Amino acid sequence: MEEYHGTNTHKVAVVGGGITGLAAAHKLQEQGQQRGIPLEVTVYEKLATLGGKIATEKHGDLTIEGGPDCFLRQKPWAAQLARQIGLADQLMGTNDDRRKTFVLNNGRLTPLPDGVMLIIPTRIWPFVTSGLISWPGKMRMGMDLLIPPYQGESDESIADFVRRRLGHEALDKIAEPLLSGIHVSDPEEQSLLATFPRFRTLEQKNGSLIKGMLAQRRNGGGSHAAQESGPTSIFITLREGVGQLVDALQASLGPGVLQTGKAVIEIQRRELAGYTLALQDGSRVSVDAILLATPANVSTQLVAGLLPELSNLLAAIRFVSTATISLAYRKTDLTRPLDGFGFVVPQREKRRVSACTWVTTKFRYRAPDDTAILRCFVGGPGQEDTVDYEDADLLDLVGSELERFMGLRARPFFHRIFRWHKSHPQYDVGHLNHMQKINDQVLRLPGLYLAGSSYDGVGIPDCIRQGQAAAEKMAEFLQLQMALRPA
Ligand SMILES: Cc1cc2nc3c(=O)[nH]c(=O)nc-3n(C[C@H](O)[C@H](O)[C@H](O)COP(=O)(O)OP(=O)(O)OC[C@H]3O[C@@H](n4cnc5c(N)ncnc54)[C@H](O)[C@@H]3O)c2cc1C
Repeated sequence: MEEYHGTNTHKVAVVGGGITGLAAAHKLQEQGQQRGIPLEVTVYEKLATLGGKIATEKHGDLTIEGGPDCFLRQKPWAAQLARQIGLADQLMGTNDDRRKTFVLNNGRLTPLPDGVMLIIPTRIWPFVTSGLISWPGKMRMGMDLLIPPYQGESDESIADFVRRRLGHEALDKIAEPLLSGIHVSDPEEQSLLATFPRFRTLEQKNGSLIKGMLAQRRNGGGSHAAQESGPTSIFITLREGVGQLVDALQASLGPGVLQTGKAVIEIQRRELAGYTLALQDGSRVSVDAILLATPANVSTQLVAGLLPELSNLLAAIRFVSTATISLAYRKTDLTRPLDGFGFVVPQREKRRVSACTWVTTKFRYRAPDDTAILRCFVGGPGQEDTVDYEDADLLDLVGSELERFMGLRARPFFHRIFRWHKSHPQYDVGHLNHMQKINDQVLRLPGLYLAGSSYDGVGIPDCIRQGQAAAEKMAEFLQLQMALRPA
């Protein structure tokens, strides 16, 4: 049985109730009002819960993040949306007075030297005295000041880029665990231009990464967000966890908009205009426009019958799996101070835990004062099998690595495991060209849009920006349709 709609109201569907879809639905409602378009927006979400990868849980007085725990302040879209939906006073910085990152180096946690910004040393003395990089490695990194910049436009892998400018030790000990950790990617495959285009700009504008980073620091960081009031740390979050964004969006969207437990399984084109969605429960809905805010590995199936070329391009985006294991301890059981935000583990160390966040040092309000939360990451390229270990085996594995790295023998009094199967899109070298092909194909489907972490940025701010931009394009399209409709 197909639901039908009246002729005056434009009915639009957002498929996927993650942050991209929710931000898009919010923007669509705003655009409808601003442009005077009567809009009926519905979000179809497969699961019973909203938020997608945003998974904040309360367990007694512990706040546990299963997915993202903060977002980059320099990309302003998340904080702007938070302010718009009434969360201004909930935005919170990290505890930057205790900011320190450790890198596992030959089995020992070694601090990343102060002043290393992402991968680039900007303070001489802490860098020179650090035990993380060998003397030849430090001298090789310093050669960044002399090596002429690459003048072409071709993409290259993060690994090739870092080896070229800073040498292989900087790649193995700093860039691989830090940069590829953010994207959960193999640096040999990860696209420089799609993930850290800023490095290419720094290189080409300043002749060297170090000179470029120093110039940027002198100019106040060049951040969009620099003028905004509120937290000033590099990463920000919300007092009750990132899930507050989802809850506030849900509240702002109004009744009837969010349809949970409604998986879309197929999309067909209607004869004259618009699309019909087939839902898993057997119902069908016709709409004037549609935003697919689902990951590419889902969207490929949804568009298979519409445009096989697009479906094939989407299928070519690879995904990898990870798991996060949150552990809570009594602070009196700890054997070393949690004097930093946590540690990262380079691949060359051949361990299973790839990173560990010392949550209660990094953020306030996550647990009572006598409790410490650690969050470990496993899986990722080459280690995806770990994700499917039984819970008990995963806890043993993580426990033995924490004992080895941190001397931590106590057992946690609480744990929570989240598995993220094929959840991290891989922006391989050439991703921008691939996206150009996808965008060209999407133009062949009027009123259909794609947005989300598979395409143009994986972080929450980029997902919000993409969802909002797609909503604006959809509103423009509907406005044009209204103008062309016979009186
Ligand atoms: C462990 C982990 C840690 C992360 N840490 C950070 C971090 O600290 N900071 C940061 O900025 N980013 C982080 N990220 C990345 C960020 O969380 C994601 O990129 C972002 O949340 C993705 O949002 P999205 O809406 O595009 O996709 P998703 O969150 O994947 O949402 C897609 C939605 O579509 C639904 N869906 C799927 N199929 C269908 C269907 N057939 N019909 C209807 N609905 C469907 C899904 O159930 C889901 O709700 C992290 C990600 C993970 C997994």
